[in-house]
Amino acid sequence: MNIVILIGPPGCGKGTQSKILEQEYGFVQISTGDILREKQKDNSDLAKKLKDLMSQGKLVPDEIILEVTYAKINELINDNVSVILLDGFPRTLYQAEQLDSFTDLNKIKIRSVISMKITESDLVKRITGRYSCANCGQGYNDFFIKPKIENICDKCGSSSFKRRDDDNAETVKKRYAEFVNQTMDVVDFYNKKGLLKEVDSTLSTDLITARIKDIISLEGNL
Ligand code: AMP
Repeated sequence: MNIVILIGPPGCGKGTQSKILEQEYGFVQISTGDILREKQKDNSDLAKKLKDLMSQGKLVPDEIILEVTYAKINELINDNVSVILLDGFPRTLYQAEQLDSFTDLNKIKIRSVISMKITESDLVKRITGRYSCANCGQGYNDFFIKPKIENICDKCGSSSFKRRDDDNAETVKKRYAEFVNQTMDVVDFYNKKGLLKEVDSTLSTDLITARIKDIISLEGNL
């Protein structure tokens, strides 16, 4: 098994690119944000804590993230998945260091780390406009990618769509600031290891995909 890490501020297009790579190559995405949103749904103390932190755009404590991410990776190891795409993890230097120990121990190779770059103002536009199909999860955006037929999902034909509670300009700015404060250390960490490649996230979805495919094939993942 090997891992491709997508790094970028929330809303830079990591989820969209992960979906494309899953469909085309059978990679499996782990989105820590999605796992945590799922965990918010019951009435537990953990659910309340997650809701509180995430609605403010704050990072969830490392120990919670590590536990849920390792559980998911272990599940995929048992399913013999060959490439995992990590979307939204690691987000702190500590998480990156812990992931290194975990991958060494489990003989997993981190093959590529892709940094998806975008400015704060482009990001606000992108996030406040985004929504997805409630049935299959296909992503859309009011400003960039709408369904070909209005209100009908291109992929599954559903007419039910959803938006995330935390997709407002104020939360986006907080999350961008969190990203700059904490995740840039992660970018440096992988840069020093020679694993980091950059992609311009303001390009079209197709061009970003092409650039990511180039990087991944160069690293021998395809
Ligand atoms: P995302 O869907 O990746 O934008 O994540 C949504 C929210 O989940 C973030 O704003 C954080 O509150 C939390 N989160 C997701 N991944 C992590 C992580 N690796 N470390 C800490 N918090 C996280």
